[in-house]
This record gives sequence, structure tokens and C-alpha cells, in this order.
Amino acid sequence: MSCVKQSGDAASGPPGLDLAFNAFDAMQPRLPEPTPADARNGRRVKQAAVPPQGVYLPNDNVLTPQMRSPEYVQMSNAAAITLGIMPGKMHRCGCTRCLNLLLTYPEGCRANCAYCGLARHREAERDYADRNFIRVDWPAVPMRQVVDIVARDGERSPFHRMCISMITHPNSDADTVAVLKAWTAKIDPAAIPVSILSNPTTMERSDVAGLKDLGADIFTVALDAATPALFDRTRGKGVQSPHKWQKYWDILLDARDVFGPQKFGAHIIVGMGETEHEVLSLVQQLVDLGGHSHLFSFFPEQGSLMDHLPATPRDQWRRVQLARYLIDYAGVRVEQMTFDAEGRVTGYGLPSAEVEDVVTQGIAFRTSGCPGKFRDDVSACDRPYGDSPPSNIASFPFQPNKKDLQKIRRQLRIPVVQG
Ligand code: SF4
Repeated sequence: MSCVKQSGDAASGPPGLDLAFNAFDAMQPRLPEPTPADARNGRRVKQAAVPPQGVYLPNDNVLTPQMRSPEYVQMSNAAAITLGIMPGKMHRCGCTRCLNLLLTYPEGCRANCAYCGLARHREAERDYADRNFIRVDWPAVPMRQVVDIVARDGERSPFHRMCISMITHPNSDADTVAVLKAWTAKIDPAAIPVSILSNPTTMERSDVAGLKDLGADIFTVALDAATPALFDRTRGKGVQSPHKWQKYWDILLDARDVFGPQKFGAHIIVGMGETEHEVLSLVQQLVDLGGHSHLFSFFPEQGSLMDHLPATPRDQWRRVQLARYLIDYAGVRVEQMTFDAEGRVTGYGLPSAEVEDVVTQGIAFRTSGCPGKFRDDVSACDRPYGDSPPSNIASFPFQPNKKDLQKIRRQLRIPVVQG
């Protein structure tokens, strides 16, 4: 594929190997089109003012009802199936362990991130509650109903964690507080801890502290882009979006101070144009600060400004997944690893037998995120098929079996060299 730089030449990679990666120059987003005035700020939905009646399944009605947090939240298909409010089965998954609650408004998110299905530039094409996000639809559900079901299930609840996902909206800070209060009023946060996926653009340090005081357990910042240049191109000026790299870092450092070690982290999308060395240096920086990285493989979300670009090649993704796991959980430092001229991992900083042990264990290839109740390096946030189709899984929402591991080894492609 022309967008994927294939660099198996001797000058830039180990001879005889055909290593792929998504290079910066090839991963240019489209520019957003102007939105007609009658579609801006959720005007269609607000003018129709159809009252919501319980659960709303995206694209199910002629007119999207007017739903608004904190009374309503959206959740992934996987969460809705697990909660029992939507029929359906997930490929090789019984349930999801994380209840992701996404704030919702007719005006939608006011940012324009190039890889995101929720971005503002889609206003003319699709009402906010009907937009796809990380490859799936997000049903809207009354918050009271969510709390009632989880409280009723008590210790039988399948959820190991709840996560409030903020979006860029003037009410987002206050409504995050309201949703957290509605949850803790009926559900013990020690039984099902709460994570905050924050939107730093609208936040101050006092907001971070307020969420901690109200019982939030972990605070994460969706940095998403691994370098300042990529951030600006995909989330800032490059796509008429309001986010700033420095502001995200300010709030991340506030979270470190307020929430403390192991209780903060950053989301990073791999394969948007950064090098493997760049993203793994960021992973190391987060570990050195006392936090964690939560990785996602870039997938061209339909309707986004990057839907014409290639998903992250599996070999690039597997190298970064494995190296990130070693940095986050095995005490290896990025400086011990080796990289080729294109910044690709060529050695993991450990003897090959030890790397092989980690590969065989398989945890490195599962979704990464806030922990659940199984063990610290197994994420509650399993996001089934959020970054790939089930036919070619990027982040495994379950423990990979023997056949999966054979495929992972093939995808890793590079020989494991002595560190
Ligand atoms: S702020 Fe978040 S929800 Fe809004 S467009 Fe960016 S990534 Fe999507």
C-alpha cells in the first residue's frame, strides 16, 4: 500500500526483512469541510426537540431525541450488551469488564480530532448520538437506569471498573461531577472503582482535585498523539480543533500530583505517524513520572478525517505493544532497547529467552488500560474490537490462545535479538 512505508532495505532495517510502519508524511488527515449553518451545534436535534424515551439505539429512529448529560450517557455496544439493555453477542467475549460512560449532548463534542468519529466536522452528516466511535455505535441510556442496574446486581456485577469519558463541551466538567456523584450515591467506589478519561482543554487543577475528592480512583489524559507535531496536526490547529499539547501535559502533571503514583496515565494511539522510538520514549517518560500508558492501534474510523489512511501495520503494532509492556511491567528501559534508522524496534533489551517468555504469556497483546480485579497488568478496559475487526485483532479483549499467539509471532516478524 502506498501509504505504508515499506522499508526492508539494508540502509534502514535489518536485511531481508520487510518491516512496515505508518510514516509521518503518509498520515496526513483531510481538512474539515465547512458545516452549513442549519446543522451547526446540534440545531436539527434541538429544533425537533423529540423527547427521549428510555434507551436510544443509534440510527434506530427517524429523529434523534434530544438527550443531554448528566441525565443521559452513552455507552459502547459491549457495555450495553453486558448491562443487559441491548441484545447481542460479542465474538469470543462473554462480556466487557469496563463500563465506559460517555457524556452526551445534542451539540456534541466541540473538538475536531482527525481520527475521531465524534468530531465536530460530522455535524452535517450525522447527529451526535448517531455517530460511530472506535468502530461501534454508542447507545444512549438514562444515567439513573445505569446506576439502578449496577446497584441491583451488587457483587454479581460483571464490571470491574467504570470510566467517565469527557468530551469537549462547556458543560463537560460540571456534568462529570454530576455523573460521578450519581454513581457513588448508590455504588461503592471501592467495589467498582471509577476512572476519569479527561478533557484537559476545559479543565483546571481544581477540577482534577475535585474529582479525586469525590472518589475517582484513576485519572487519565487522552494525549492520543505521541509528539507535539502530530498532536497539532490531528487535534489542534491542523484540523481547526482547540486542543494544545502543553495544556494536556499541564493537566497530566496535575493528575500525577493529585492522584499519585500508578493512579494516572495517558492514552496514546500508535501508528498515526510517530516513530516507534518516539512513542516508546513517551511510554518511558510516563513510567518515570509514576504513571502508565494505555495504547490503541490506529484504525481509520469511518467518517473521520483519517478514514482514507491505513490502519497500523500489525508488525509495527506488535513491536510497540511488546516493548511498551516490557517498559511498563518488566523494568526494561527504552535506552536498553535498540532501534533501526527509521526508529523501529530491533531489540527489546532483554535476552531472547526472557522476551519469548513474555510473548508466550500473551498479556502484552491484550488491551491496555486501567486495571480490573484480575491483576495489575490486565486491563479492565477490554474494549472489544475497538481498534480492529475481529478477523485481525489488534488489542486482544481476552487472553490470546495458542493459535492467536502463533499469529502474533508471525506478525512480530523481527528476530528477537540479544539486548
Ligand atoms: S476531544 Fe475526544 S471526543 Fe472530541 S473529537 Fe477529540 S478525540 Fe473525539
